[in-house]
Amino acid sequence: MKLSMLKLCALAGFGFVVSVSTAAADPCMKVSLTGTQGGPPLFNGQAGAGTLVQYGDDSDKCGAVKLQFDTGRGTNMRLSQMKVPVGKLDAIFFTHMHSDHTEGLGDILQLRWHFNSGGPKVDVVCTEDAKSPIGHTLSCSNFVAHIGDALIESGEISQRLAENKKRLPGGPADLVNVNTFAASGEPLQVWQKGDVKVTAIGSRHIPGHASYRVDTPAGSVVIGGDAGNDIPKPPRPSSTSEQVEKLAQGADVLVHSTIHPAMGPDKDSGFPPPIYFRQSNAADLGALSKRAGVKTLMLTHLIPPMGAAKQGPYPIPGGPLDESHYKAAVKEGGFEGNTVVGTDLLTITVPAKN
Ligand SMILES: [Zn+2]
Repeated sequence: MKLSMLKLCALAGFGFVVSVSTAAADPCMKVSLTGTQGGPPLFNGQAGAGTLVQYGDDSDKCGAVKLQFDTGRGTNMRLSQMKVPVGKLDAIFFTHMHSDHTEGLGDILQLRWHFNSGGPKVDVVCTEDAKSPIGHTLSCSNFVAHIGDALIESGEISQRLAENKKRLPGGPADLVNVNTFAASGEPLQVWQKGDVKVTAIGSRHIPGHASYRVDTPAGSVVIGGDAGNDIPKPPRPSSTSEQVEKLAQGADVLVHSTIHPAMGPDKDSGFPPPIYFRQSNAADLGALSKRAGVKTLMLTHLIPPMGAAKQGPYPIPGGPLDESHYKAAVKEGGFEGNTVVGTDLLTITVPAKN
């Protein structure tokens, strides 16, 4: 068709210039913090923990593939600020079943069900059911299967189905492919689309916790989640996870939840020691990043939040912390790469754009 048109143009004696771009589009990746709040408290409108990883090239603003890691409170609002429609997410990954990482999922799936019931379905990737030694079970698949239950019970889902029969009959959970995996201490590939590959490793915080690595032709990013060391309290070599360190070797970016040493039991905050010890502290994250050869350490899920006088009910010894306090702790750990102290919507691009 095109050829015959060209012939026609030529026969008609039209002069024309064909411009063909021969430059290959450069692959790129964007890592955005959709929420930086650590734990259940609220502070200053910060959204709950989450990271959006996008991959593509210059022609699609690095956005052909969109992966959301954790969906804390307000994730939908942050995605809207980045102009990322929920219908465009390719997959959602969970590090663990704590509400500060999960409670935005209902909001996301209800919106997607409302407008995108025709598909595609979204993959939710997480660990298989994990039984605690003291009896309870953490279940991502149950969490997802029941995500719309309150809306079903209220009658809303029936009402909205009555006004649009193209919506999926089971409500928001019908729109999900749940892919669970058995996490171990070795990296396991859990998802792939084209050039984008995601691997996971089991790590310690609560039963079923996992950390992830995304590899793309543009670079790599590791999402540590709330991982801490397998040994639950000192004496131990570090508060950080050996599994995360394995996953983070040579990574361009490590995004990791962080607790500041100011909240430690040797200070005066009264913060519960077991909760302090199950997070990685900022100094030890600096040391891990140095050992693993990470280029950029992106601190998120900051405990305490910058500027806060308290973490929940616990006062911050010495007063509120700012960016310099977090950076100083990372430096103390020996890291000389790029340290980014996370705020909501903060985005870095790999490779860096000049
Ligand atoms: Zn958390």
